[in-house]
Amino acid sequence: MIECPICGTDFELPKNLEENEIIDCDTCAAELEVTRLNPIKLEEAPEEQEDWGE
Ligand SMILES: [Zn+2]
Repeated sequence: MIECPICGTDFELPKNLEENEIIDCDTCAAELEVTRLNPIKLEEAPEEQEDWGE
C-alpha cells in the first residue's frame, strides 16, 4: 500500500511497477509518477501538455 501524495488515500500499487511509470489514483484521479522504487516514492506527474503545434 502507498499513500497518495495528493489526497492521502492509501491504495494498492500495481504489481510490476517500474520507475517513471505514471499511475492514477482511483480516489482523486491524480496522475502520479513513480520517481523511485525502493523505497517507493510518488510525485504528482507534471500536467501533460498537448502542444504539438499541428
Ligand atoms: Zn489521490
